Amino acid sequence: MAQELDLIPGTEWGFFTPPRPMCIAGPCSAETEEQVMETARGLHAIGIHVFRAGIWKPRTHPGSFEGVGTPGLRWLRRVKEELGMKVCTEVASEKHVLGCVKYGVDMVWIGARTSANPFLMQEIADALEGTDIPVLVKNPVNPDLDLWIGALERLNRAGIRRLGVIHRGFSTSAAIPYRNDPGWKLAIELRTRYPQMTFFADPSHIAGGRSYLQELSQRAMDLGLDGLMVECHCNPSCAWSDARQQITPAALKDLLESLVIRETTSDNVDYREGIGALRARIDVIDEKLLELLKERMDVSLHIGEYKKNHNVAILQTGRWEEVLRSMITRGAELGLSENAITAIMTAIHDESVRVQNTILES
Ligand code: PEP
Ligand code: MN
Repeated sequence: MAQELDLIPGTEWGFFTPPRPMCIAGPCSAETEEQVMETARGLHAIGIHVFRAGIWKPRTHPGSFEGVGTPGLRWLRRVKEELGMKVCTEVASEKHVLGCVKYGVDMVWIGARTSANPFLMQEIADALEGTDIPVLVKNPVNPDLDLWIGALERLNRAGIRRLGVIHRGFSTSAAIPYRNDPGWKLAIELRTRYPQMTFFADPSHIAGGRSYLQELSQRAMDLGLDGLMVECHCNPSCAWSDARQQITPAALKDLLESLVIRETTSDNVDYREGIGALRARIDVIDEKLLELLKERMDVSLHIGEYKKNHNVAILQTGRWEEVLRSMITRGAELGLSENAITAIMTAIHDESVRVQNTILES
């Protein structure tokens, strides 16, 4: 059973100033002191106040560059002292948390491989207890909303109220242009459940390539998310990790300037009246849809009884394919997409089969 979360909104963390998006930027990995300082200076010059850099890197293969470790924390401290930026890094264990506390790291994030692991989440939550360091939790690599929420609950129980999330998409074997499936639906679900949660998107890890960053960042803004975490490097193509998805500070400036930021709502009276009237119409239509669905289910029940009495199987694939095909054709005439019709009709049909099966079992 999910618990309520006691949260302080990101605007009150003392890290981010309006306008949207709140922005966190910096290299995938801290590589050398020079690379960290040069990237941070470039970002500071374009008005970024929160710097990220991975110190401990979760890599698929041993022997790949696994991060510089503790020495990198000194470089982050230098960024903080020389440029006055807030600094953050990824933690995946108690040891990492203790290192961050020791070197004054301002904020930490939990990576997608770690948020999927309740043992590690509990270890990190215990280590963070009493520190008051803000924490951002990336979604687990697999699209499991409860696992994501469970990670947030553990941190919140440990007293972390400056708590936010980063949506970075999900691992997939499907052939898509991005590195990860954006799976925005899950982000919207989490957003709806915890509207007060500070919400970032990580277009870099969703994209996996520079050319998709703009469209993904715009999408995140259109969904009303609060911020972006973007991987930036002073010399992206030579980066030691995630070279294809990193951009220069100058490219980040262009990206941010290109974004169209729409308000999540408006105080304008005409807008409020107009949207109110349209929503009232939608409510009436939804009510009718429910009544029609109920009527359809009742007929379906009768069909179930009929099949039972005549000893006929519930699922008639031929008939179902015919219904779907004709609905898609009729839908197309009305300007409705094949995907939408297929999804809606499949859900209705699944429920009909379930209801008819209850008759058979009764
Ligand atoms: C990262 O932010 O560098 C990172 C490793 O991300 P993720 O956990 O989303 O893969
Ligand atoms: Mn990365």
